[in-house]
Amino acid sequence: MTDLYAVFGNPIAHSKSPAIHAAFAAASGADLVYEAHLAALDGFPKAIADFIAAGGKGANITVPFKEEAFRLSTRLSERAARAGAVNTLSFAAGEIAGDNTDGAGLVRDITHNLGISLAGKRILLLGAGGAARGVIAPLLGEKPASLRLANRSAEKAQGLADAFADLASVSAGSFDETAEYSFDVVINATSASLAGTSLPLPSGIFAAGSLAYDMMYGKGETPFLELAREQGAALLADGLGMLVEQAAEAFFVWRIVRPDTGPVLASLRAQLGS
Ligand code: NDP
Repeated sequence: MTDLYAVFGNPIAHSKSPAIHAAFAAASGADLVYEAHLAALDGFPKAIADFIAAGGKGANITVPFKEEAFRLSTRLSERAARAGAVNTLSFAAGEIAGDNTDGAGLVRDITHNLGISLAGKRILLLGAGGAARGVIAPLLGEKPASLRLANRSAEKAQGLADAFADLASVSAGSFDETAEYSFDVVINATSASLAGTSLPLPSGIFAAGSLAYDMMYGKGETPFLELAREQGAALLADGLGMLVEQAAEAFFVWRIVRPDTGPVLASLRAQLGS
C-alpha cells in the first residue's frame, strides 16, 4: 500500500519538500506519496488530525507551526525536546512522535557535503530564533572549541546560551560585542537575508580560512554571504544543503533508509541557477 506523507506550513506553495521526498522515494524504491498542505493559521491541530484520519504516516512541519507541532506531540525525541520545536512528526499506534532534524541537517551539510570538520573550531551563530535554537545542541555535539551566539536583541541570545549551559559553556552578546573575537565558522540563522537586509557585523570576525554559512538559500548570493566575502571569509555556503539533509534525516526517521542526497542537491542547485 502507498504510504502517505506531507509537509504542513503557511504559506506552503514555495516548498521544495515534495520534490525532494519524491526524488528520495524514486531513488530508494519506496512506495509513497508526499504532498504539500496549507494549514490555516488557527487550524494546525485539525489539519494534523484530518491527515492522521486519512492514513498519514508522517509529516514535515514548517513556518509557522514548528512550536505548535512541539506542543501537539505526545512523545518527543531528545533533540526535539532540546530544540523546543518539531519539524518531523510520525504517526503510529495512536502516538504523535515529534522529532527535529534541522540541526542534524546543518551539521551533515557542513561536515559531509562541504567536508569541514567542526571539531575544535570557533563557531559564531547569528540569531536567537527557532532555527538557532534547533541547531545549538547538534553543533555542540561536534565538540567545537567554542560557540558564541550573537543576536540583534542580545538578551535573547543570552537566554538561549543559558538554556544550553548544562551541555557546554556558550557565550552570547550583541553583534557589536563580537568585535573582539574571530571565528572559523560563522552561521547566519537570522531571517535578515529573507528581507534582503545585511547584518551590522564588525569587521575582523572572519578568521583566515573561515566558512560563512547562511541558512537562507535562493538565487544568487545572500546579503550575509556578500558581506562575508567582502570581509575575507574563505568559503561561502547557503542553506540549500541543510534543507536537503534535514529532509533526508526525516526520511530516515520514517523509513530507516538513508537516501543519497548528492543528486537531489545537484538538481535543486541547477534549478535555482546558483
Ligand atoms: P525566527 O523568526 O524564529 O527568528 C528570526 C531571527 O532573526 C531572530 O534572531 C531575529 O532577531 C533575527 N532577525 C530578523 N530580522 C533581522 C534583521 N533585520 N537584523 C538582524 N536580525 C534579524 O526565524 P527562524 O529562526 O525560524 O528562521 C531563521 C532563518 O533560518 C530563516 O531565514 C529561515 O528561512 C532559515 N531556515 C533555514 C532552514 C534550512 O533548511 N535551510 C531551516 C530552518 C530555518 P531578534 O530576536 O532581535 O528579533
